[in-house]
This record gives sequence, structure tokens and C-alpha cells, in this order.
Amino acid sequence: MTELERQQWDVVVVGAGGAGLRAAIEARERGARTAVICKSLFGKAHTVMAEGGIAASMGNVNSGDNWQVHFRDTMRGGKFLNQWRMAELHAKEAPDRVWELETWGALFDRTPEGKISQRNFGGHEYPRLAHVGDRTGLELIRTLQQKIVSLQQEDEREFGDHEARLKVFQECTVTRVLKDGDRVSGTFCYERETGRFFVLEAPAVVLATGGIGKSFKVTSNSWEYTGDGHALALLAGAPLLNMEFVQFHPTGMVWPPSVKGILVTESVRGDGGVLRNSEGKRFMFDYVPDVFKEKYAQSEEEGDRWYEDPDHNRRPPELLPRDEVARAINSEVKAGRGSPHGGVFLDVSTRMPAERIRRRLPSMYHQFKELADVDITAEAMEVGPTCHYVMGGIAVDSDTAAALDVPGLFAAGEVAGGMHGSNRLGGNSLSDLLVFGRRAGLHAAGYAASAGTLPVVDEAQIDAAAAEALRPFSAEDLAEGAPTENPYTLHQELQQTMNDLVGIIRRAPEMERALEKLAGLRERAERAGVEGHRQFNPGWHLSLDLRNMLLVSECIARAALERTESRGGHTREDCPVMERSWRPVNLLCRPVDEQDTASGRIDLVRKVTEPIRPDLLSLFEKEELVKYLADEELEE
Ligand code: FAD
Repeated sequence: MTELERQQWDVVVVGAGGAGLRAAIEARERGARTAVICKSLFGKAHTVMAEGGIAASMGNVNSGDNWQVHFRDTMRGGKFLNQWRMAELHAKEAPDRVWELETWGALFDRTPEGKISQRNFGGHEYPRLAHVGDRTGLELIRTLQQKIVSLQQEDEREFGDHEARLKVFQECTVTRVLKDGDRVSGTFCYERETGRFFVLEAPAVVLATGGIGKSFKVTSNSWEYTGDGHALALLAGAPLLNMEFVQFHPTGMVWPPSVKGILVTESVRGDGGVLRNSEGKRFMFDYVPDVFKEKYAQSEEEGDRWYEDPDHNRRPPELLPRDEVARAINSEVKAGRGSPHGGVFLDVSTRMPAERIRRRLPSMYHQFKELADVDITAEAMEVGPTCHYVMGGIAVDSDTAAALDVPGLFAAGEVAGGMHGSNRLGGNSLSDLLVFGRRAGLHAAGYAASAGTLPVVDEAQIDAAAAEALRPFSAEDLAEGAPTENPYTLHQELQQTMNDLVGIIRRAPEMERALEKLAGLRERAERAGVEGHRQFNPGWHLSLDLRNMLLVSECIARAALERTESRGGHTREDCPVMERSWRPVNLLCRPVDEQDTASGRIDLVRKVTEPIRPDLLSLFEKEELVKYLADEELEE
């Protein structure tokens, strides 16, 4: 039996980004004793990096905006594959979540009349993103942390212990969700600094671990994005939904190589930045797909007029949803019209005075000046697609954020699937994590309060989790003469495989090859070995993360091979058309053999979605629905 520290909580929240913190605040305010655990330093979640803003139809800059328009834009952006109930709740509740942040101390940029300012972004009909320059995520996290501290101060006054009802475990990683029968019983964790194991026992666990970008070579994501929550859910028996949909943001830095993939915020285009190829042509006018033709300008003049008079002109095609822009850039580069370092040019210098660029886009100005020695107030940036966001994720109940099939498990934020369909609109992640973070905290607290007899933590599961975590230290013995493997080499090979074979443009034979390579990597990862000891050992941590990245990558590759159409963040050269018959089809991934979850073999099932509610369908013109819905849906 493994001797380790155990603590008992009502709710354990895994992840301290926007979704995790919002869930924790809600759970604690509903009376649940809540633990938050995060892999990095408290405050250094991915949410901090968010730049452009939070999408919410407050109508501060254009009073024509409302939840119905936001819902429509979100569904169009996701090519109607969104879980429509999530998209509805999101559009309705996002404004309240932003105003609530303000009451908790967030300092948003203002309009001249003193309202919260809102900016344009791709796919949003009206200026909708509440923002703080291009550092919105930082303010969001600062505000949520401040709220947590104020709740802890209440506990200090009431109980003489500021962690009595809300405690943060930073630089601690969860490697397994533990179960009692079907239901959740807690989490198995290790502390990065000491390597010590511990268990948090709880009837309810909220996964809020963010995305999967570190499985790809070129990505805007940071080191934490290794798909942990996706894998934890899968290993606990909860299915993942539509993992084929991975967003490649159109504008990442392409030069110098050391910064390739770092994000160039969409606010640059929202604020007037234009895309040109090596011939100086504004090429996006050639790439407006039929479904969007009526909504986008047909000439540069009209596009330019839209910035001053949006009610009488159509928006420029630089503001098409991200999947469209990323594919267009990819095509220009492939056709030999790219920039010197393999991207295209994004120019804001000819569109705004230097002083305004420095005020509206301070991070971009510094990022390019310091990392690439480019002054964006005077010259164009070079940009190209970068793996940015995963639309697929844990399948959840739309209202409660409860994961399917595992009572007590909840998920919110980027790790949860469904809200964004096949493609997320910019700004819709920060609003998603506030809306569904709150809902997850609310329902996790409610579940914990009514859970009855507490689940029992199974000793055998703790022993197995400890043995699994320690395996990299005895790789040599386990390899029985075969060579041990370096986790960093395996990670590089995995990233290259996903980038080259399951990237922005996909083909069946390449994805089949990717699956073979992944099987080989999985077998070699069993022999990933590390030297040294458990105190702050990054090689050991990476060995453990590899299990998660391999599982997630296999889900992505299998689902991408299965979906024989192109839609949103899934583009197949061999099946280039968006097929209406695929609209109601969801793909669910589960481990093949629940007793053999370590092997990572994934089973895929098709599930037909619930029909979209008629009152929501009536928000669209019939002519538009005909482009998206399957025949049987139209008949109904
Ligand atoms: P995160 O904020 O990433 O938090 C995940 C948390 O989980 C972290 O605390 C991490 O340490 C923890 N964790 C992970 N694994 C484990 C584990 N095994 N054990 C314990 N803890 C774990 N979206 C917008 O809407 N607007 C924007 O302007 C915008 N700009 C962006 C700019 C950049 C550069 C990037 C990369 C993304 C941007 N996005 C934006 C997307 C958005 O920031 C993310 O989707 C969102 O912040 C995810 O939030 P989250 O709470 O789900 O996860």
C-alpha cells in the first residue's frame, strides 16, 4: 500500500485558468469546500496569454447587437456543428459574466461615453469583444484571483484559516481521476518541486485543464497544453467529442525560428490590418466561400468603408472566421506567393498612426520589436498558421457541464467539447470559460452536496497510479534489454508527426501513416526513461505527459480519418466539400478496452445529435439553413 497524504474536499477543480477559477469561485460561493490544483504557478495559466478580448453581446458600440445575433454568428462560425444548447446559453449569459467581472474589479477599456469598449473580430457581426488593450486575459485572471483572495479573507475572518473552504495547490499535477465503481472519488497528484505524491478525495471533480497544442510542432500554446484533462477523462471512462476539429490560427509569427508559432492577435485585423501576398495583392477577396458571400465586401473600397460606416457596408474578408483565413494563407504560400520566411504579410502600419498602434496593440508592438526586430508601426509583419485551439473535448451535458457516463466528473473551458462546433470564433473562448466555468462550479457543488454516502478511494487504484508515475525511473529494467527511450526525442517525433500528417490540410493515406507512427511511439513511450530523482525533474514530467499527448493525438487522427468531409478546423484535400449529411453526426472517442487503458487504443462511435430547437432555427433564413442542414433535418 502506498503511504501518502490525503485530504478531503467537496469539489476538486483541476486547472487554474479562467474556467477553473470561475468554477472554484462558484463552488465555494455555493458552500462547497473547494480545492484548486494547477500544474504551473498560480496565475500562469494559458488564459493569461489571451489578447483580443471576451465576446459578449452587450451592444455598447453597436446597439443592434443581442444574444440572438451572437448565437447566429457562433453557429455559423462552427458550421452548425455546435452543441446548440451550449451556444444558446453562452450567447445569453456572456454579458452578465463580463459585467460581473467589472463588479469584481476588472478595468476594461472604455468607449468615449464611458461604457466597456468592444472591438471587431472575425466572424462577429458587430464589435463585440470587451478588452483591455491586447492583454485581456491578464486582467481576467488578475480579477478572478483577486476574487479568490477576497473569499479566502472571509474565511480567515470566520474560521481563522484562509484556506478553510478554498485552497490552491500550485505546481501540482493530476495524473489520474480516481473512482469508486462508476463515480468519481478523487484525484491522484504529484508536486513538481518535491516529486511527492498525494491524493485529494472528493465526490466531484471539475476538469479545466485547457488544450492540446503541444502535440503539434508549430503552436501558439505553452508547455502546459499537453491534453491532460482530455486524457484524464478518457482514462476515467468519459468519452471525447469531435476531436478532429483543431483550430489553426491564421496568424502566428513565422520568423525567427525560435518564436515560430507565437500568436499575432486577431485584433490586428479587427483594427484594420490587411493581408497581402508577395505580389502586394490583398488576396482574401479571392477566398470568400459561398456560404459567406453575401456578408463580406466584394471590393477593397467597400471593405475599407466598413470600418467607418458598418451599417451601410460589408466587412472585409480579412475578418472571415479563422479556418477560412488560415486555409487562404496556406494556399497562397503553397502557390509560391508567400513572404521570404514562408508566411504572408500582415500590415497595420499603413492603416493607423503609430501612436494609435502602440496604444491599441502594445503587446504586438513589443513582441515584434523585441523578438523579430520589426517595427509594426512602420512595416508589415510576416505571419502564417499556428496550432491554437482544440474545439473537440470532453463530451458534456450542455446545462450542467457534467461529463457523460462518469457521475461526479465535470468539465469546462477549452477541455470541454461541443460549444464551438467545428471552428471557434475569436473571443468566444474567454466568454465560454466564464459561462461554463460558473455552471460547472454550480453543478459540481450541487452534486457534492447531494452525493449521500461519500465515495471510497480504492487503495489498488492509488498503488497503480503510483506505479504508473514511477515507471520512467525503472525503464531500463522494464525494457528487458531493449533500448530505453528519451522522452524529449519521442515528444519531438510526435509533434512532427502531427504537424506533417494530421495538420491544417489532411489526406487519408497520411493520417493512416500517422496512426501507424503513433502506435510505434506509444510502444516506445512505455520505455521512456529518466535519470535522477523526483525533485523537480522536467524529463520525468514530460514522460508522464507523453501518455496524454499520445492518447489525444490518436483521437484526433482517428476522428479526422473517419470524417470524410471538410468543415471548420478539419480540412481534407481528398474530401474537400462540406457535406450536409455529416452535419448531425458527432464522433465520440473511447478507450477500446477499459481494463487496458494504458495501451491507448481508441474506439470511435458515431452519434447523431439532437435536432436544433425550432425557435433557434427560426433565427436563420431558410436559404441559409439549406446550405448547412441534412435533408432529413430540413424535412422536419
Ligand atoms: P487554461 O487557462 O489554459 O488553464 C489550464 C489550467 O490547467 C492551468 O492552470 C494548467 O496549469 C492546469 N493544468 C493542465 N493540466 C493539468 C494537470 N494534469 N494537473 C493540474 N493542472 C493542470 N481566447 C479568447 O476568447 N480571446 C482571446 O483574445 C484569446 N487570445 C489568445 C491568445 C493566445 C496567445 C492563446 C494561446 C490563446 C488565446 N485565446 C483567446 C484562447 C484562450 O486563451 C484559451 O482557450 C483559454 O484561456 C483556455 O482557458 P482554460 O481555463 O480552459 O485553460
